[in-house]
Amino acid sequence: MSVVQAERTLRSATAGTSLTILGATGSVGKQTLDLVARNPGRWQVEALTANSDVDGLAAAARACNARYVAIGDEAAYPALKAALAGTGIEVAAGAEAVREAGARPAEIVLTAIVGAAGLPPTLAAVKRGATLAIANKETLVCAGPVVTALARASGATLLPVDSEHNAIFQVFDHAAPERVRKVILTASGGPFRTFSREAMRHVSVKDACAHPVWSMGAKISIDSATLMNKGLELIEAEQLFAVGHARLDVIVHPQSVIHSMVEYVDGSVLAQMGTPDMRIPIAYALAWPERIETPCARLDLARIVNLSFEAPDLERFPALALAWEALRAGGSAPCVLNAANEIAVAAFIAGKVGFLDIADVVSRTLDKTGSGPLDGLDAVLEADRLAREIATALVAAR
Ligand code: NAD
Ligand code: MG
Repeated sequence: MSVVQAERTLRSATAGTSLTILGATGSVGKQTLDLVARNPGRWQVEALTANSDVDGLAAAARACNARYVAIGDEAAYPALKAALAGTGIEVAAGAEAVREAGARPAEIVLTAIVGAAGLPPTLAAVKRGATLAIANKETLVCAGPVVTALARASGATLLPVDSEHNAIFQVFDHAAPERVRKVILTASGGPFRTFSREAMRHVSVKDACAHPVWSMGAKISIDSATLMNKGLELIEAEQLFAVGHARLDVIVHPQSVIHSMVEYVDGSVLAQMGTPDMRIPIAYALAWPERIETPCARLDLARIVNLSFEAPDLERFPALALAWEALRAGGSAPCVLNAANEIAVAAFIAGKVGFLDIADVVSRTLDKTGSGPLDGLDAVLEADRLAREIATALVAAR
């Protein structure tokens, strides 16, 4: 039984629902704040967090009248405090202050921090039984079994914001998951969908971030270019829907009209479609089980010339193959995959390694660590730490 299913009837949307946004200054965070601003009175913002963007965080906190703001970078505290002087908004800084944002009593916590850095505040929110609208997929990849076990124990509800998982959530038969034959994630294929390996060798960070369909933060854009994003999403899907890896599949669909599909035992395939605007899945998770108006462009199928599909090429995109392997291996392998990928992507952004080195660093890190048991938070933190150490050494050796 998946966690989303177990708690489906527990929450009812009411006006003035308290909401915390972790990672409020990023792409998903800003789109969430846009929906908050368009629906005055619907959500009362409890807490906002950011890593280092003082101006962005202060402006967002003033605009939505947040009660508490936390910035990860401790050195940014004086500037943030000054920027919010006279507002009555509580200001804090440091990793513990960001974790505290998840612990504060908001009914919904939208997790839009990038990377495993989102784990502590997410766990704090899960522990107190909150409803989580999860965009921060890395948290589910590195610690999925820990997060879902805690959610079952506390009664927390996990709602997916990632567009594919949100699509699956909308068409999944939560009452009879045994009737699901396949969960099929669609992938745009990213900016290098038609590139040879040789052509990918010298691509720049700018090329990799130029996603053909979605406008997103740098890390997920690069993950989309390597197809690691789809690999992380396979693992995320397994954590959320628990259908087993044999019932998961990926298909490349460059137009990104179909956001994912569920095939049933009778041969019916249900899909969720829409324009590529993250405010649609964000709105669905925030208002669930209701639906609310969004300002998004409407899907005009008559103007779309064709919808095409192709199998992913695991040879040109080895990151996706590595994620499949980590999913099948289970245990600490997904955590290692994620940590090594975070290090390799950061190194690519910093100009220390090339684009093809990203999957290579991940592969070598997995070879060195193997897969151990993942029987609690300490095991997650240790697997994550070790993988980062190995991946950092591999980067330095290039
Ligand atoms: P982004 O880089 O635009 O924003 C990241 C946010 O996290 C920022 O607010 C930043 O301040 C904060 N942050 C970064 N490092 C931090 C740290 N160490 N401690 C505390 N806060 C930190 O990223 P994004 O594109 O908005 O993506 C956020 C998450 O949502 C990622 O996990 C991504 O995979 C997922 N996601 C994004 C999209 C999208 O369209 N952007 C779609 C689906 C899923
Ligand atoms: Mg996605």
